[in-house]
Amino acid sequence: MSPTQTGPTEREARKAGEAARETQWTKPSFGKELFLGKLRLDLIDPWPSNSPEQVAAGEAFLARLKPFVESIDGPAIEADDSIPDEVFHGLAELGAFGMKLPTSYGGLGLSHLYYCKALTLAGSVHSSIGTLLSAHQSIGVPQPVKMFGSEEQKQRFLPRVASGEISAFLLTEPDFGSDPARLACSATPVDGGYLLNGVKLWTTNGTIASLLVVMARVPSSEGRRGGVTAFVVEADAPGITVECRNHFMGLRGIENSVTRFHDVFVPAENVVGGEGRGLKVALTTLNTGRLSLPALCVTSAKWCLNVARGWAAERVQWGRPIGRHEALATKISHIAATAYALEAMLDLCCLLADDDANDIRIEAALLKLYASEKAWTIADELVQIRGGRGFETAASQRARGERGIEAEQVLRDLRIMRIFEGATEIMHLMIAREAVDAHLAVAGDIIDPEASREDKIRAVGKAGAFYATWLPTLVAGKGAVPTSYAEFGPLAAHVRYTERTTRKLARSIFYGMGRWQGGMEHKQAFLGRVVDIGAELFAMTAACLRAKTQRAESPEGVELADLFCQQARVRIGALFTALWENTDDADDATAKQVLAGRYAFLEEGIVLPSEDGPWVTPVQPGPSEKPDVRRHIPRP
Ligand SMILES: Cc1cc2nc3c(=O)[nH]c(=O)nc-3n(C[C@H](O)[C@H](O)[C@H](O)COP(=O)(O)OP(=O)(O)OC[C@H]3O[C@@H](n4cnc5c(N)ncnc54)[C@H](O)[C@@H]3O)c2cc1C
Repeated sequence: MSPTQTGPTEREARKAGEAARETQWTKPSFGKELFLGKLRLDLIDPWPSNSPEQVAAGEAFLARLKPFVESIDGPAIEADDSIPDEVFHGLAELGAFGMKLPTSYGGLGLSHLYYCKALTLAGSVHSSIGTLLSAHQSIGVPQPVKMFGSEEQKQRFLPRVASGEISAFLLTEPDFGSDPARLACSATPVDGGYLLNGVKLWTTNGTIASLLVVMARVPSSEGRRGGVTAFVVEADAPGITVECRNHFMGLRGIENSVTRFHDVFVPAENVVGGEGRGLKVALTTLNTGRLSLPALCVTSAKWCLNVARGWAAERVQWGRPIGRHEALATKISHIAATAYALEAMLDLCCLLADDDANDIRIEAALLKLYASEKAWTIADELVQIRGGRGFETAASQRARGERGIEAEQVLRDLRIMRIFEGATEIMHLMIAREAVDAHLAVAGDIIDPEASREDKIRAVGKAGAFYATWLPTLVAGKGAVPTSYAEFGPLAAHVRYTERTTRKLARSIFYGMGRWQGGMEHKQAFLGRVVDIGAELFAMTAACLRAKTQRAESPEGVELADLFCQQARVRIGALFTALWENTDDADDATAKQVLAGRYAFLEEGIVLPSEDGPWVTPVQPGPSEKPDVRRHIPRP
């Protein structure tokens, strides 16, 4: 069976991804060094801190935000699938739409740390509030314009979004989510600007936004490189139609759209970051933008811990509180230890972003990957701990006269975290690309099937020189010295393990390169495990560092960090085993047969999905034939 959709080849898709990649490393990176076998604690220890002014501003804002968040009726949002107008007004009044923007543009000028603390708090009353604020600020107009906009653009747009005008980010289309080579929305140069045409799918805030960041492709022509470009677009510009509001298994209340552009004029001065630099703008924006979703995962972890604690102590079965049965005790301890580590990773990444001394693109990506996966596991464990009540809606529990606990809702809401802003599989590939970058840089021509014989010979010499100095550094290290890292007290053994394992990980990547060479990029399962080991090591480091730093005021943290490290070491052991003992090749061969229909007999005996119609809506260019379903939020 061949795919019905045509488009760019795999090679072209990879080239597009590579072109969008940031290849420069002007600042040190803990994550990059980790995959090279070096535990560069000096880059993150001492634990960075916000200035007293940043702390004062952040705490003052949290103090104002909390009572407002407490006043929001989360169950009503869930029931109505809608955030009330007054909530938008209240958030705007508090300045919550400009948390990270400098005060000179009307924002609150909060640090990343306090922005994320505010998201964690706001998301706790209902996930759609966190998503609204995060989509607006992390990927909507504020972040890309702040990072890439001209002074004139900043003056023009930032005060508007800071004061409560909502923005959205439009990248995804029906034909593409993960593969930008397929991006079809076009921006045709005309006198004074561009005409946008195309359809954007699943835009969070798309039905309510007044300013949009739209990614569209400028065609190349004589003297013009063209390429994917970022535009700030007025949402009420003629030719824009919000054709649908989309609904999902979770995140009820979010205002998510299908948006059509038909000959929409955008002035040239609304290009952000330069023509052809749109994907770079998007990816760079996400480097710190990626901290937002983990902040919402931390919300869930804290919430699940609270419910698990209360319920598992109270509910008695077989003569004991259920939390005292070992089968549930292991789940509860996993939730507690992981909640501690997730917050440690988030805080550390935020503080590193505030400090701006390190390049945090790998750490932020590891955090997004790890937090979204772990939060999902935690919520699933909570549903199990709650038993039948875990599966029951909170409204149903209330109707029976019990406390309404939204465990199933949290699970539903969290599922998308593993898909949007970089699906887990894509995060694995992205991080793996950076992890093997040093090898590709030296061995690129050796493994490139299209390189000439001379290039290959030259590359062998270059690689030989690199590996002659690099490989010996992986043999011995501080982690092998029993007295090292004594400053970590009872956690020193875990830090030593982390140092040793960092070197082991780099050796494994090297073996993998030797074994598969140019084929390595297709060994996605291997690469995924490599990245997962890296994520665990980063999590262990963050947990130990947090515990060490806060030992005086929070001695319990050491216990949780210790437990987390014990659990992580078990997982890392399993991941290393699976690097070389697995069913990857058999799985790959079987999946090929599944797609070819060989095992279709297994599908017999049930009523199969009966709906016909395309798997992916073909986009028909032209004016919209649907009514505009935009929601206008009246001014207060
Ligand atoms: C609730 C919600 C809100 C959203 N908000 C926004 C928004 O505000 N703005 C916006 O632009 N987009 C938004 N999106 C879109 C979201 O970012 C995409 O869904 C996501 O990028 C994945 O793309 P896709 O759904 O097309 O999946 P696909 O790209 O079709 O991928 C399907 C599966 O294949 C895997 N896959 C794809 N390529 C590879 C590969 N090379 N190797 C291995 N596996 C691969 C993916 O990981 C995934 O598991 C939103 C989506 C939802 C559901």
